[in-house]
Amino acid sequence: MADPRSKLPAVHQLLDTDAGRRLAAAHGRGRIRDLLRQELAHARAGAFVSREVPGPEALLGRVAARLAQTRSDAYPEVINATGVLIHTNLGRAPRLGVAPGGYLALEMNLPAGGRGERLTPVVERLCRYLGAEAATVVTNNAAALVLLLASHAAGRAVLVSRGELIEIGGSFRLPEIMAAAGTRLAEVGCTNRTRVSDFEQAITGDTAGILTVHRSNFSLTGFVASPRVEELADLAHRAGLPLWVDQGSGCHCDLAPYGLLRETTVQEYLGLGADAVLFSGDKLLGGPQAGVLAGREAAVAPLRRHPLRRALRPDKAALVSLAATLDAYLAEQPERVPLYRLLGQSELSVRRRAQRLARRVAGRAAGSRAVATRAVLGGGTTPDQTIPSWAVELPDRQDLAQSLRQGIPPVVARAEGGRLLVDLRAVFPEQDQVLEAALLTALGGLEGSPP
Ligand SMILES: *Cc1c(COP(=O)(O)O)cnc(C)c1O
Repeated sequence: MADPRSKLPAVHQLLDTDAGRRLAAAHGRGRIRDLLRQELAHARAGAFVSREVPGPEALLGRVAARLAQTRSDAYPEVINATGVLIHTNLGRAPRLGVAPGGYLALEMNLPAGGRGERLTPVVERLCRYLGAEAATVVTNNAAALVLLLASHAAGRAVLVSRGELIEIGGSFRLPEIMAAAGTRLAEVGCTNRTRVSDFEQAITGDTAGILTVHRSNFSLTGFVASPRVEELADLAHRAGLPLWVDQGSGCHCDLAPYGLLRETTVQEYLGLGADAVLFSGDKLLGGPQAGVLAGREAAVAPLRRHPLRRALRPDKAALVSLAATLDAYLAEQPERVPLYRLLGQSELSVRRRAQRLARRVAGRAAGSRAVATRAVLGGGTTPDQTIPSWAVELPDRQDLAQSLRQGIPPVVARAEGGRLLVDLRAVFPEQDQVLEAALLTALGGLEGSPP
């Protein structure tokens, strides 16, 4: 039988097709030539196993798919093979790709033709989904907290438990944020134990409210106690004060179906008497960077009037994406949200993908194999908890992780105990082919290296 490799076209033939010329015009002839050489090398290697080779269209299609992953040179899209679903360095939650390029009815009421309010559509959806009386949106959770404190507690004291004076990282330290907002922090209780009576005794004529902060990135165990939210709400309301909850993670649904522990949701905090709940849009809500504050009208109204609000106004692309994310939940289709699509994959399907990928790269990496791993949600959302996952294990050569990061598209893997794990939990199944090409290229070292 003829060697199937003899059926492979030459690079210059591919470059001379319509599709090849279009790609070269858009991305540069040299770049396309290099990528086609890589694809031809993979095809030659694959022909040994399958005795089949892809045609010109398939080869050009693969190059186009790889380039589509890296639309921006400044902020290239990467394949997240770290097993961390909400990765701080990779833009936290993947969001719905619905950002419009052209003009949009951002502040125009189309039926009336007059000026509209940019937040109205998203606020309406937030209230409906969260069961809140009122809501507002700013650039991020930190901004929501600053705006809340500046609007309600400027020059006055806010009570916070000593067990909740958190640092989130990236310079979010609660005492500093409070100072920057012009609020006095009144610390209550002890690091490990704070009681309702501690709060009660700390209330003075100068107190503007009680703030409770979710321990996002650590857990407190052992001899510990903290008041329940409903007890704090009751105390606050008896004293004529508001209770605010910096929930942070934006947990809005039961995570048990995804194999994670239940957490108090935003909706539940509101039901338990919180006057306002604050959270990030790009953590468990699975949306864009945004800070949401939802709760009682009396808690939200002063924020609307505060001059800082204009300085913390969210971008149009974030609002469009946030509204689309909320629409998915309102339609009870969380799987439309990329984060929940990743979370919802069965362990078996992740395992099959890892096994397939391991087989495909085995020729270029001796000793590579599919292994069971644990992935995490990350982003300071569910500390100490993991999700079952699978990865392709590769020998951890220092240069391999780096060449993966510098590939087209870039792949960020996880180094662990002397090996490199390409974890598939946070990789979208439709990225598998492109991931395979990127792995083969990095493993092959040099483009066109012999199979
Ligand atoms: C993540 C987090 C923040 C900061 O949110 P950003 O959206 O990054 O500003 C604040 N508070 C808590 C409890 C958090 O978990």
